[in-house]
Amino acid sequence: MSLDIRRQVSLQRYNSLALDAKAEYFCRLTTIQEVQQAVAFADANKLAITVLGCGSNVVLKSELAGLIVLVQLAGISHRRAGNDIYVTVGAGEDWSSLVASSLGNSWFGLENLALIPGSMGAAPIQNIGAYGVELCDRFVSLEAIHRRTGEICSMDRLDCEFGYRDSIFKNRELNNYIIIEVCIKLSTKPINNWHYPELRSALEEKLGSLTASGVTPQLIADTVTEIRRAKLPDPALWPNAGSFFKNPLLDRTQLASLVVAEPQIPVYPVAGGLSKVPAAWLIERCGLRGHRVEQVGIHSKQALVLINYGGSSGRQLLALAEHMQRAVKEKFDIYLEIEPTIYGSF
Ligand SMILES: Cc1cc2nc3c(=O)[nH]c(=O)nc-3n(C[C@H](O)[C@H](O)[C@H](O)COP(=O)(O)OP(=O)(O)OC[C@H]3O[C@@H](n4cnc5c(N)ncnc54)[C@H](O)[C@@H]3O)c2cc1C
Repeated sequence: MSLDIRRQVSLQRYNSLALDAKAEYFCRLTTIQEVQQAVAFADANKLAITVLGCGSNVVLKSELAGLIVLVQLAGISHRRAGNDIYVTVGAGEDWSSLVASSLGNSWFGLENLALIPGSMGAAPIQNIGAYGVELCDRFVSLEAIHRRTGEICSMDRLDCEFGYRDSIFKNRELNNYIIIEVCIKLSTKPINNWHYPELRSALEEKLGSLTASGVTPQLIADTVTEIRRAKLPDPALWPNAGSFFKNPLLDRTQLASLVVAEPQIPVYPVAGGLSKVPAAWLIERCGLRGHRVEQVGIHSKQALVLINYGGSSGRQLLALAEHMQRAVKEKFDIYLEIEPTIYGSF
């Protein structure tokens, strides 16, 4: 079967910000053979390939040249080894459904990552993380097709060079691979992780005091879901891409001067003597929470989320993001890095 490749397709329904960008060429990929055909088509026509999963971590400018592919490879299989369950997941599978079905099977380890939108194939790209757990904590390996050669290769955790919202796919191997499946390791024994401060205090509120026996994987998943629902707007109602900026990592000198100005700011120590501080706090302190310019705005409950209130363009959204970056730089001398990947041109 040959691929159904269409021209000049609107991508508005394929990105959670609902930005109306046009793809020069567009197709869906549901099998490995289709991925290889798409690579061959792009090669023969000298087209760049842009990969989309669910489009929940991208900002699309108005024109996307080349071939835009929607990765929809399905399938979940597993293998047991003692208490460990190795789950192999097609790149097009929905992440949130995977978290729910794993919990339903009593395969534990993904609870803290409940309700993150997106596909399995995109999860390694920025090493998705929330409430004290990152994909790399459960990751075993992935299979990907090289965008130029069409060859299938395997990569393990070390190969992927995971970091905070980061991996080799955002750096050295940017746009070089189409991920087709990912293997993660879960456990039949609960791996309860409730140490992230916001999660911990929500659990304390429910349980009174925290004991190892009182906290269950289901309770963690439910609590994470409740926290997320309370503070993050549903993209189906309020188009957004989740956190628009990464939380900045500061060295000791930067942190010391920030704490003088903002003694109450929460600080999370991370590896390498660095500390992570909430970008949302910095944006709020610039008085920008709830700020709106025509059809784009900053969410009133969560200053990290930018919303398309309808009909706005990538240009307007990025202009607001730049305004926020400038304000934070001027007030705190801290640069806010944009988290979603930006594609296309105006
Ligand atoms: C409301 C909301 C809340 C969010 N909360 C979180 C959170 O708590 N933590 C977090 O980490 N993220 C969060 N995100 C961001 C987003 O959910 C994740 O980044 C998710 O992994 C994106 O999946 P996707 O399928 O939508 O990827 P897309 O947006 O389609 O793509 C993202 C990037 O991955 C690449 N990509 C996608 N699929 C593949 C593939 N198969 N092979 C190669 N490259 C690929 C794309 O080219 C692009 O560069 C949130 C987003 C929203 C809208």
